[in-house]
Amino acid sequence: RRVTVKSQSSGDVNNDDDDGFILEDVPHLTNFLPDLPSYPNPLEKTQAYAIVKNTFVSPEDTVAENIVVRKGSPSGVHFRRAGPREKVYFTPEKVRASIVTCGGLCPGINTVIREIVCGLRNMYGVEDVLGIQGGYRGFYSQNTIKLTPKLVSDIHKRGGTFLQTSRGGHDTKKIVDNIEDRGINQVYIIGGDGTHKGVAAIYEEVVKRGLQVAVVGIPKTIDNDIAVIDKSFGFDTAVEEAQRAINAAHVEAECVENGVGIVKLMGRYSGFIAMFATLASRDVDCCLIPESPFYLEGQGGLFEYIEQRLKENGHVLIVLAEGAGQEYVAHSMQTVNGTDASGNRLLLDSGLWLTQQVKDHFTNVRKMAINMKYIDPTYMIRAIPSNAYDNIYCTLLAQSAVHGTMAGYTGFTVGPVNSRHAYIPIHRVTEMTNTVKVTDRMWARLLASTNQPSFLQKCDILPLERNVLSMKYPGSKRQKLLIIVK
Ligand code: ATP
Ligand code: MG
Repeated sequence: RRVTVKSQSSGDVNNDDDDGFILEDVPHLTNFLPDLPSYPNPLEKTQAYAIVKNTFVSPEDTVAENIVVRKGSPSGVHFRRAGPREKVYFTPEKVRASIVTCGGLCPGINTVIREIVCGLRNMYGVEDVLGIQGGYRGFYSQNTIKLTPKLVSDIHKRGGTFLQTSRGGHDTKKIVDNIEDRGINQVYIIGGDGTHKGVAAIYEEVVKRGLQVAVVGIPKTIDNDIAVIDKSFGFDTAVEEAQRAINAAHVEAECVENGVGIVKLMGRYSGFIAMFATLASRDVDCCLIPESPFYLEGQGGLFEYIEQRLKENGHVLIVLAEGAGQEYVAHSMQTVNGTDASGNRLLLDSGLWLTQQVKDHFTNVRKMAINMKYIDPTYMIRAIPSNAYDNIYCTLLAQSAVHGTMAGYTGFTVGPVNSRHAYIPIHRVTEMTNTVKVTDRMWARLLASTNQPSFLQKCDILPLERNVLSMKYPGSKRQKLLIIVK
C-alpha cells in the first residue's frame, strides 16, 4: 500500500533512498485526471495571510511518523505535510463543496463543520457549500441545506452535530450518483473508522467514473482509537468532563461507610479516556481497560484489592472503560451481543455487571455492608461542546482539509503526526486501531499512580499472531498483544 506517485514539482518521489525514506503518499486528482489545470492560490491576497511569511507549504515537505529514531537508523515512513499550496486545482467560483457527519457523537463536530465553511469562504472565497443531513443516507434521502458563515457562526457552542448523523445507510452508488447529479466537487466527510471505510469506497467510485471530485475524511472518535494521528478531537474534552463524574463518585463514596464508587467511561476497544481521566484525577484507586485483563476472585484479584482499600481508606473508587471485561459480561449474562446498523458489535453493560458482582461478593460472600455508587456519564460527555483546546484543534483539522482539497489531493484523511499536521492515506485509519499498549510506559505510570494490582499473576501477555487477531476482531488488527487469563 506504500505508493510512489508523481510529485507536483520534481518528478517521482523515490521510496528506495539509501536512508530508507518511505513516502506514504495520498492520491492527487492529477493522478487520474492529468490535464487538470492549476491556478495561483488566492490565499496570499486574503487579509488573514497578507503579512504571513512562507504562506505556502512545499509539496515536497513531509512529516515523519517516528520522531524518536536511533542514530544511523533508516529515516522511515513519512506523510505529506498539510497546508496551503502555491497552486490550487479548483477556482473558487467553480467549487461546490458538501459536508456530512456520520457515526456517533463527539465534542467538536460542530466546530469542524463551522471551520470548513468559514475556511472555504474566508481563505479561498468559496461560497457554495452544502450540508448533507443525517449521515451518508442524507445524500440520497434528504434535501441539502446551504451552509453560510452566518448560519454556522454559533454552532461550535453547541454539542452534537448541526447536520445530524446516522449509522448504516452507506450505498456507494447512490451517494456518488447524487454527488454527480448535484455537481458537487469537494466532499468533506467527518466520522470514525466505519465512516472512513465509506470515504475510501466513495473515492474509488469517483475515480472509476473519472469525476473531478476531491474526497476527504476528517477523523472523529472520542475514544482516541485512530491510528497514526497524535490524538483525535473531542478526546481532551471527554477527559476533562469525565473529571466531573469521577469527582461526584468520589464525594459519594467518601461520605458513606464502605463506599464503593464505580464510573463507566467511553472506550470500546481502547482505554485512553479511562487511563487519562484516572491519571488526571488522582482520586481513582483502580482503572480497568479493555487492553489489560483483570480477574475478580482470589489472590491479587479485584475483590481483594477493593477490600484492602476499604480497610485502609474507608472507600474505593474504580474507573472502568466500557469495553473492559466484555468476555466476563457475555459469559455471566449467557448472551450473544448483536450489531448496530453499521455492523459494529454491540457491547454489553460492563459497568452494571461489575456493580452487581461487587455487591454480590461483599454482601453474600464477605458478609460486609457496602455502599455502591455507580455513575455512567457516557451520553452526557458525548453531547457537550468541545473545550478550548479541542476548538483550536478542530480549526486546524478543518483548515488542513480545506487546503488539501483545494490543492487537488483526494482520498485522504488529515491529522497531526508528531504535532505536525499531515495528509494520511485512508487505509492507515481503517486498517489499524490505536490501543493503549500495556507494555508501554504510560500504563506503567498509571499503575504507579494508583498502585492498583497489574493482575499479571493470573494473566500472561503473549505476542499475538495475525490470524488469532482476526478471529478476535474480524477484519482488523486491533491489538498487537494477546492477553490470556489463566
Ligand atoms: P464511531 O465508531 O466513532 O461512532 P464510525 O464512523 O466508526 O464512528 P459507524 O456507525 O461504524 O461509525 O459508521 C458510520 C457510517 O459509515 C455508517 O453510515 C456506515 O454505513 C458507514 N460504514 C461503516 N462501515 C462501512 C464500510 N465498510 N463501507 C462503507 N461504509 C461503511
Ligand atoms: Mg467506529
